[in-house]
Amino acid sequence: MIFSSDNYSPVPQQVLDALVEANKGYQPSYGEDSQMTKVRHLIQKVFEAPQAAVYLVATGTAANSLALSTLCEPWQTIFCSPVSHIHEDECNAPEFFSGAKLTLVGNGDKINPKELKKSIQAEESRGVHGPQRGPVSITQITEKGQVYTLNEINELTQIAKEFKLPVHMDGARFANALVSLGCTAAEMTWKAGVDVVSFGGTKNGLMGVEGVIFFDPQKAWEFELRRKRAAHLFSKHRYLSAQMLAYLENDLWIELAGRANKAASRLIAGLKEIKEVEFLVEPKANLIFVKMPAYIHRKAFSMGLEYYTWSEIDGVSDDTPVVARFVVDWSRSLGDIDKFLEIMRNAAEKESYI
Ligand SMILES: *Cc1c(COP(=O)(O)O)cnc(C)c1O
Repeated sequence: MIFSSDNYSPVPQQVLDALVEANKGYQPSYGEDSQMTKVRHLIQKVFEAPQAAVYLVATGTAANSLALSTLCEPWQTIFCSPVSHIHEDECNAPEFFSGAKLTLVGNGDKINPKELKKSIQAEESRGVHGPQRGPVSITQITEKGQVYTLNEINELTQIAKEFKLPVHMDGARFANALVSLGCTAAEMTWKAGVDVVSFGGTKNGLMGVEGVIFFDPQKAWEFELRRKRAAHLFSKHRYLSAQMLAYLENDLWIELAGRANKAASRLIAGLKEIKEVEFLVEPKANLIFVKMPAYIHRKAFSMGLEYYTWSEIDGVSDDTPVVARFVVDWSRSLGDIDKFLEIMRNAAEKESYI
């Protein structure tokens, strides 16, 4: 029973079948394959953006770093959340590829518009000596499992536009956010002022493919050069395309995220009935952060439940609060969730813990 991350999950059969199909015969290399043409058209259709430039890379770190480096200059700064993946989990790849620095906005998870404006205004006050303002990057869904509403995205992008700054969206869990909001892909992105999206595939079922979408194709060539220079242009590219094509065809991506979110809702509802379990934030999709006494964690763990913890556990007393993250991926059945809840209910019964 592993709920550590959605990249622990297997790959859906449709994607494997698509890889087998793509393995037949010969196809041009380096993104010139016929599947990529279909991927491009499907993404342009799904996003209602016929001009959009569409690329594939194999990791979210590459998608974010290459997208951001294309949006900024080395003397600029990228505005992001202090818990953003680009800041905490990419080993400075965004800084490496862009040459820019990151400016952390506020101290929360979601970026607050007032704080964004304050951070942006604070830059460029030192002339040539300080960093110049650069792109704003937001994560949808956020690292803590929240979802920016369309209004919230609009508010942030309007501030960016006031300062003529481009906006990037880290959509590692794009589909889960889209299903949660029930809006269109266009509404969540360019219609809300987002310029470039890292369009996640891996966390939602692919073997290792992320899209990068530029709604304005003006910088497309620069991105292509950067991708190649960063060693991220795959020669046998058709195997990336085939995965993304299977993901988009018949709305598989929406179906998978729908499953994950639905199973997560059941888990959230069940956890709410366990009074010892407290939510750090109200979860809106498939990432759940809770705080619970260490004894529950210990017992749940001994009963085979696995997830990440964000606290010191060794040697702490049974009542010490432990922060845990549960991630529900596309492959989870409602039966799995019921088993999870049964373990948690048992674990919460203190008397039975000896
Ligand atoms: C997982 C994740 C990524 C991508 O990470 P890789 O390990 O590089 O594929 C990017 N952003 C967020 C918010 C993520 O959760």
